[in-house]
This record gives sequence, structure tokens and C-alpha cells, in this order.
Amino acid sequence: MVDSIESILQVARAAARSASTLCLAVLAESESTPEAMAKLGREPVTVADYGSQAVILEAVARAFPEHGVVAEEGAAHLEREAGRAGTEKLVRLVGEALGREVGLAQVLSWIDHVGGDGTYTWAVDPIDGTKGYLRRDQFAVAIGVLHGVDVVAGVLACPHLPWDLDDSEGRRGLLFSAARGEGAFVEALDGGERRPVQVSASLDPGRARVLGSVESSHGDPALIEAVIENAVLGGGWVRIDSQAKYAAVAAGMAEVYLRPRSRPDYRDNIWDHAAGVAIVSEAGGRVTDLDGRELDFSQGRRLEQNRGVLATNRLLHERVLEAVAAVEAASG
Ligand code: AMP
Ligand code: MG
Repeated sequence: MVDSIESILQVARAAARSASTLCLAVLAESESTPEAMAKLGREPVTVADYGSQAVILEAVARAFPEHGVVAEEGAAHLEREAGRAGTEKLVRLVGEALGREVGLAQVLSWIDHVGGDGTYTWAVDPIDGTKGYLRRDQFAVAIGVLHGVDVVAGVLACPHLPWDLDDSEGRRGLLFSAARGEGAFVEALDGGERRPVQVSASLDPGRARVLGSVESSHGDPALIEAVIENAVLGGGWVRIDSQAKYAAVAAGMAEVYLRPRSRPDYRDNIWDHAAGVAIVSEAGGRVTDLDGRELDFSQGRRLEQNRGVLATNRLLHERVLEAVAAVEAASG
């Protein structure tokens, strides 16, 4: 396929949709929580993480075999941990998503697809916010696309994100997409027209809503609280899982997403940010680290050169950066 940014976005949107359907099917099939397999390290991972990754990377391998891939999961761990029932379920789910019979070897090869060393690289988080997913709360299927070391496109499927953040019982399920220079768009995950999204135009700190992680161990809630107080941000602090936070800032549902480092040696994964950066930037927002530096995607799998992340509607960016600096200076 010709790798125009438009064709890349089209493939990414379709893959994110189909991966979301798989993730929701696993939730629907499971009475309590989808069986979480212990992953090396402390993050949980489910058969849906692997299924979602297989579906997305199959699409990349088919449409753009020369594109590179950096994705969160690996087949070796799955083979060790999933057991026969797990791998059979995985093969069935991927077959259903692709609409044809597939074999385990194929599924494993898609999960581990790394592609060529072409100019484009896909940064994929098949289920971002797995802990939220297990709670049947917010999660995202995240696909960022780099050209060289620049983020040029992103897709975020947020199957549980309410259309109105203040109405959690209302309609849910949104698909966000953006390509550099083309703007950011949202559409219903179950189909419909794409319409442009813009960040909030509010300059008023008193109404600024702040988003942070649900998991305290993924950040520094005390720092967020202190920054809210220092910058006098009065719109409330809402904790949601996954890059749905970026999506909510892009759509003007909140003004600030603040992600302090959980510990000094933590380095963020590129797949936790690439899609969100594309979408917030194209919606008119701004994304930097807590020192005001651009996120540097040139360092491989992690953002080695950045300290935390701040995404805002742009208008409040400096104010929040100043508050971070003041709070950090005060705490030594
Ligand atoms: P969130 O939904 O904001 O809690 O972020 C989810 C992401 O946090 C996951 O995709 C993980 O890659 C990442 N994560 C895991 N452990 C940590 C940690 N100790 N500090 C920061 N982020 C983490
Ligand atoms: Mg993630």
C-alpha cells in the first residue's frame, strides 16, 4: 500500500476498531475479571492484550510490511504463561476479529512482528491501562506512528470513554485520530462521521480540570495535589486510566493531564504516549515533560530523556510548569 499519511491512518483506525471489539468481547465473555496472567514485572496482562496486538500487527504487516513496529507485548511470555486454554482462546478471538481461520503459529508471528527498518515506526499499546480494563473501567487501544523520530499520526480507541465526562452512565465509546498538519478528529467507536476536536479554549485556572492516573504507583499523587493547589486549578482532579486522559484533553473535556514520574529511575514507554501526543498536539494542545522539554522519541522503546509528562490545552501550560517547579523547589 502507498504509505501516505491518510492510508496509514485508515489502516490504524480500522485496526484499533477491530482490536477494541476483541477486547470488549473478552470482557463480555468473562463473568468476573478476564483471567490475568502474571507478567514479568508487576503489570497484569490478559489474553485480550495479546489478541489486540495480534490484530493490529497483522494489519500493519499486511498493509505496510516495510514499516517498523515497537509494541508492548511479546509472544515468548504468552507461550510460557497462557497455557493451552489461553492460547486456544487467543486463536479463536483473533480468528473472529479477522473473519477467517488462523493458526497459533501465525498469531504468535503477528504478536512478534517487528517489520522492516523503514522510515515509519508504529508504537503500539494493545491495551493501555490493563488495570483499568480489568476493573471494567477506562482503557485504550493506542497506536502512534513515527516518521523517523517524529510522531506524525495517532489513533486512540477508548471503548469505555463517556461522550460526556460528567455523565458516566451516558453513551460511551470514542475513536480519536490525528495526522500531523491535518487536525484531530473523533468519531463514535461503533461508526459514524468523523468530526474535528479542539482542546478547551478556557484560560481560567479556576475552571481547569486536571486528569491523572487511577494507579497511585504510576505517578505521584501528592505532587499533583500540590500543583493543583499552587496553580489554583479549580475544575477538579479526575483520575482515569490509560491514554483516555490525552483523548479527554484533546476533546476539551479537561484542560490538564499531569503525569509526574513515579520514581526517579522510571522511564515512560513510547507506546504510552505517541498516540496521545499526536492527538493532543493536533487538537491545538501542548505536550512536554515536567521541565518543559519536548518528548524525545529518538531513544528507542522509552522516553529516556524526559521527566514525566504534561499535556494541556496550551493556554495553561506555562502556569502548570511553573507550579511544578515551585512545588519541587519547595520540597527540595
Ligand atoms: P495509567 O493508565 O495512567 O495508570 O498508565 C498506564 C501505564 O502506566 C501502563 O501502560 C504502564 O506502561 C505504565 N506504568 C507501569 N508502571 C509504571 C510506573 N511505575 N510508573 C509510571 N508508569 C507506569
Ligand atoms: Mg500502556
